[in-house]
Amino acid sequence: MGRQILSMGGDTFQFFTRNPRGSKAKAIDVEDAKALMSLMEENRFAKILAHAPYTLNPASADPKVREFAELTILDDLERMEYTPGQMYNFHPGSHVGQGTEEGIRLISDLLNRVMKPEQTTTVLLETMAGKGSEVGGRFEELAEIIKRVELTEKIGVCLDTCHVHDGGYDIVNNLDGVLEKFDRVVGLDRLKAIHINDSKNPLASRKDRHEVIGGGHIGLEAFTRIINHPALRDLPFFLETPNEIPGYTAEIALLSGLYQK
Ligand code: FE
Ligand code: FE
Ligand code: ZN
Repeated sequence: MGRQILSMGGDTFQFFTRNPRGSKAKAIDVEDAKALMSLMEENRFAKILAHAPYTLNPASADPKVREFAELTILDDLERMEYTPGQMYNFHPGSHVGQGTEEGIRLISDLLNRVMKPEQTTTVLLETMAGKGSEVGGRFEELAEIIKRVELTEKIGVCLDTCHVHDGGYDIVNNLDGVLEKFDRVVGLDRLKAIHINDSKNPLASRKDRHEVIGGGHIGLEAFTRIINHPALRDLPFFLETPNEIPGYTAEIALLSGLYQK
């Protein structure tokens, strides 16, 4: 994986911890994990980002669904320790009817059970588009979860540009305003990673359909401001655009060309 990223011009990557639909994970190859860590060190990689299966729902009203989310996240966090010091991102979930407040309580309680003082992984809540009963579509909701997490130095946020845009935060015309708001509500020190995706839909559509960079409603000019913004430019950026390897390679080159050295 590390070598392929290097050949694509990248210096970090995101991966699913298991099938994104949530099946059993492969056994960890300890030697493989060590080789990756030294390759990352030699090539000065930024922290890498693991993504939990997106079908998990830690905010579900159904205790069975919550238990499955908990066991999966617990297992993922144990496995993450084979590559110490990296990041783990998950979707806070959907409350499916019992209310945002209850969803927030369930999510933070779950985190307080699975996070361990000895873990070296930083857990990230992803900003969501707010479709359906999704929790995490508003910065206030993420702030409320974070406030309740006991191991406060191990929790942060991953901002998805498509999601916040679809959720109604105008990063195209008012990037400074959105980041000021994020800082006021959550704190920019909590922001650890960016999912960089264009959007197939207009501002506040609450849709969450990713588009290739420059091909959607966010557009290349806005992305140029985003990747160079003083509050964002040193963070790791992860593409989740609808692409295969050549498309990602081209997007990495495009964005690198727009990045002010
Ligand atoms: Fe995600
Ligand atoms: Fe994302
Ligand atoms: Zn998305």
